[in-house]
Amino acid sequence: MTGHSAVSEYAGVTDRGRVRRGNEDAFVMLPEEGIFVVCDGMGGAAAGEIASRLAADTAAAVLAQGPFGADSMREAVYRANTEVYERARRDRRMEGMGTTLVAVLVGESAVCVAHVGDSRCYRWRGGVLQRLTQDHSLVEEQIRIGRMTREQARRSPMQNVITRAIGTRADVVPDIEELPFEDGDVFLLASDGLTRELSDAALSAILASAGNQLEAACARMLAGANAAGGRDNITCVLLRTDR
Ligand code: CA
Repeated sequence: MTGHSAVSEYAGVTDRGRVRRGNEDAFVMLPEEGIFVVCDGMGGAAAGEIASRLAADTAAAVLAQGPFGADSMREAVYRANTEVYERARRDRRMEGMGTTLVAVLVGESAVCVAHVGDSRCYRWRGGVLQRLTQDHSLVEEQIRIGRMTREQARRSPMQNVITRAIGTRADVVPDIEELPFEDGDVFLLASDGLTRELSDAALSAILASAGNQLEAACARMLAGANAAGGRDNITCVLLRTDR
């Protein structure tokens, strides 16, 4: 990386929520290097926590060493997958562990976004919130092929089933996209504990009301998700790009 990051402000928070005993979410923020990663782990005992921590740290470390772009991102996701997969193979207690991953790498004029699973990335631009990632989940796929409506998906008992994960197989296929950013764009990375409790409209309202205060927006999103039930671990990372 070149060192002069286009990240002008950032904030991040993770919280257990109101129901779960532990927190299997993990995040990394390296603003100087323009690196932001959110992971949502799964697996028995402490496996979910280990998977998300390992994947987030590995991906961030790989991104910190490479140039901007999709190739670095692909390598980061691949290495994170290998680390978690090998760890699960070495230790029987870790069997079945895995994690989602969503990452943003900020370059000089563009961002590179990657994801596996149902953690999401949104872009807030000109008062409009746009989701940049499509969940790798059973319900999202049912919606895409027209077999399920958003409303049915919201109530489905299969909401938790993700169709791609980091660490559960020897190989992984991430979705990676490179997009030019504009001054003042805000990117949101979130685990499903945030996006299931707060609708896109609710997230938009918070971003609009918080103005440019990302720390305040983060706190309001967390409080809002907990007020709506806090049924899962909640992670929210916000960053603004300016050249
Ligand atoms: Ca979750």
